[in-house]
Amino acid sequence: MKTCVRCKMSKPKRAFSPRPDGPKDGLRYHCRACNTKEAKERRKTPEGRVPAMLADAKYRAKNTGVAFTLTKEWLLPKVEAGVCEATGLTFCFNGTHRNKAWSPSLDRINPLMGYTPDNVQVVVWMYNAAKGTATTEDVLTMARALVFNSASA
Ligand SMILES: [Zn+2]
Repeated sequence: MKTCVRCKMSKPKRAFSPRPDGPKDGLRYHCRACNTKEAKERRKTPEGRVPAMLADAKYRAKNTGVAFTLTKEWLLPKVEAGVCEATGLTFCFNGTHRNKAWSPSLDRINPLMGYTPDNVQVVVWMYNAAKGTATTEDVLTMARALVFNSASA
């Protein structure tokens, strides 16, 4: 058994992740449950969200063979600004994987080009999802039709 320094609960050793460079027993000071909770809290801040956004984009760039030159210094101020560059909507940092409609995400203006500062804008996930591999004009066409149709319904 080992006591978590965060929740102060005594838990079996398997409740702690390994950390070879840490304490003598090779396990983390915080239990897995506390680690998960902290990771969730970090995702609610721009500082916590940006590294994951960059890592995801870098992974996608590598998989699809496009350029990736974005940096934390470039992205952080945009996420901290808190506003979608396409719609002007405010980012929500409480979103989960299931409900991330208003989470900040990276939109490639030209989906065939890479993740470079001149080809990426920071937008709400919903905009990105609607756009897919289409164009900004396509999204605008759909948005206008949606507004028109719902107003006349
Ligand atoms: Zn704990």
